[in-house]
Amino acid sequence: MNNSYNNNFYDNNYDVIVIGSGLGGMTAANILGRSGHRVLLLEQHFQFGGLAATFRRRNEIIFDVSLHGFPVGMIKSCRRYWNTEIADQIVQLPKIRFDNPQFSLETTFDREDFTRLLVERFGVAEETVVRFFDKARSLSHYDNDRQTVREFFNEFFAGRMDVVRLLMEPITYANGSTLDDPALTYGIVFSNFMSKGVYTFRGGTDALIDRMTTELKKNGVELRKSSPVHRILVENGQVAGVVVQKKGETNSCIFRSKVVLSNTNLKGTIFDLVGQDHFSKEFIETAKAVRLNNSSTQVYLALKPNYLIDENQCGDLLFSSTATEFSSEKLLNRQITSRTFSFYYPKTRPGTNRCYIVSSTNANFADWLGFSQEEYAKQKSQLIEQTLDHLEKYVPDVREHLDWAEAATPNTFKRYTGHWDGSSFGTKYEGLAVSRRLSQEISGLFHAGSVGIIMSGWLGAVNYGVIAANDVDAFLLKR
Ligand SMILES: Cc1cc2nc3c(=O)[nH]c(=O)nc-3n(C[C@H](O)[C@H](O)[C@H](O)COP(=O)(O)OP(=O)(O)OC[C@H]3O[C@@H](n4cnc5c(N)ncnc54)[C@H](O)[C@@H]3O)c2cc1C
Repeated sequence: MNNSYNNNFYDNNYDVIVIGSGLGGMTAANILGRSGHRVLLLEQHFQFGGLAATFRRRNEIIFDVSLHGFPVGMIKSCRRYWNTEIADQIVQLPKIRFDNPQFSLETTFDREDFTRLLVERFGVAEETVVRFFDKARSLSHYDNDRQTVREFFNEFFAGRMDVVRLLMEPITYANGSTLDDPALTYGIVFSNFMSKGVYTFRGGTDALIDRMTTELKKNGVELRKSSPVHRILVENGQVAGVVVQKKGETNSCIFRSKVVLSNTNLKGTIFDLVGQDHFSKEFIETAKAVRLNNSSTQVYLALKPNYLIDENQCGDLLFSSTATEFSSEKLLNRQITSRTFSFYYPKTRPGTNRCYIVSSTNANFADWLGFSQEEYAKQKSQLIEQTLDHLEKYVPDVREHLDWAEAATPNTFKRYTGHWDGSSFGTKYEGLAVSRRLSQEISGLFHAGSVGIIMSGWLGAVNYGVIAANDVDAFLLKR
């Protein structure tokens, strides 16, 4: 154990310590608390939820950071692992729109409607569409198929970049995946996400997190915010607890437990919190090779009270692009051509009278490095102005009715969640195997958090929390 900490020892009887209150960490903590384990959840930020976050301005304006849409599976997961009160607030977003130089259309984002569009609008044979959907659904972890997403599309829609755009653009936006990723990863997300529509949480992210924290407390989980874990303690190849220490402070405290479940960035867990000396050389080489996912920029716009956007014109979620063709690289480029607009109407937060718009674009962390403070502020203003220019196509008088505008960059996401490179979706898919191997390397060390295409996003994070909680439960029972 590192004795250099000027530490206080706290109660050392925790069965499990969860680091991080993202949806994965909170779900794991809830299941373990509900099963009777003594759980401590430590969050470095001053609020719970991780990327499932809101922030307020002037007290009356409230922005959702990552509530753009998630798959229907969230209803079942919330009912089972949280409660019906939470599950019952999940509602479908009925109007998903695409607008780009190749097509402009509206969809309910489900298998039936995609089939209609592909057959009637894009002229694809129905039999091909059926085969495509069936194959996407059947792709499984157990197949040793090395097909890429590009090859998968070519098998069904060779030369049809417009079809590829329709089927791929939302997925790339949703988790940064590219045509060179394995087809399996696309199949899983596609079947989850695009087969039964897009859903949201009525009442906003803060209402969800409030309900979750109430449930956690009910299940006996001890919650502490503003408690950054500085180190995971390992003694003789086994987890021994954590050190909580704020940046720049010398005081620290130690919480003891033989099980730590980290919900922080996978690479951060291995290299910053544990330290590579505690792992086998081979594991560290594999972990180093894991790629981070991309980050994002967002522009948050609040319109004046009682000004209503035309719901029919804008829809709920709009994938808008000026690029002539789909390109994963272009979606990340500083010269932004693609923006996903989320339109929030007062019905999103019953009882309120405002519309909000959030524009999201995938981004590279490196593109936002090295600016002086002044230049950084200028770059953010430009991002806002360009977004408003683009938005005028859909909300012509947006500037006139604007009450608040601000931008977030990869630096913002890094600052508030500690994710390496401000990654929006943790690591690429290869992170999953590394995440799953942690407990074989160090007894009592577990991870649940965004790892690429499969276990990321709101639903992926919740479901990974469930898997990790079951692993921890089995580990505790064995001891
Ligand atoms: C801009 C944006 C838009 C998105 N939109 C969507 C969307 O529309 N639909 C969707 O499904 N998903 C979306 N996502 C992704 C989704 O929000 C995430 O995949 C999911 O919320 C991640 O959950 P998680 O459990 O991995 O933890 P995270 O949310 O990443 O939380 C990790 C937590 O750990 C805490 N932490 C880190 N280090 C420490 C430490 N040392 N000590 C204590 N605590 C620590 C952090 O503060 C944080 O609270 C979006 C993400 C971004 C960035």
